[in-house]
Amino acid sequence: MVYTMLCYRCGVEIRDEEYVDHVVRCPLVTEVLCPVCRKRVPMGTVLTHIIEYHLGLTTTCPLCRKRFRKTREVLPHLREHFVLEQREGGVSKYICTLCGRVFTTKRAALVHVLKFHEKEE
Ligand SMILES: [Zn+2]
Ligand SMILES: [Zn+2]
Ligand SMILES: [Zn+2]
Ligand SMILES: [Zn+2]
Repeated sequence: MVYTMLCYRCGVEIRDEEYVDHVVRCPLVTEVLCPVCRKRVPMGTVLTHIIEYHLGLTTTCPLCRKRFRKTREVLPHLREHFVLEQREGGVSKYICTLCGRVFTTKRAALVHVLKFHEKEE
């Protein structure tokens, strides 16, 4: 199944397999468009914004429309949208697309997203 995703940095619609390449090249900006409602929100708080305004009781990922059986399964999945894997010479690194920090494991990157980007200002 091919998904299209909105780049949360520039708002352009991109096919899933091109998403990583695109977002890595898309410059970090201070304000981004919410991929769901297109409202401008400060970079780094877009995940908090999505959780607050677009998650609620839905069982559908607001970004890729993937469906889940339980509402609590959506957030762990949503978090993964903001971690990009980049392979370089056979070694993977994981980038937090909200602040550009780089991690050696996906797990570390996801914990970082949870701790730093899901809080109220
Ligand atoms: Zn973009
Ligand atoms: Zn929104
Ligand atoms: Zn999704
Ligand atoms: Zn981050």
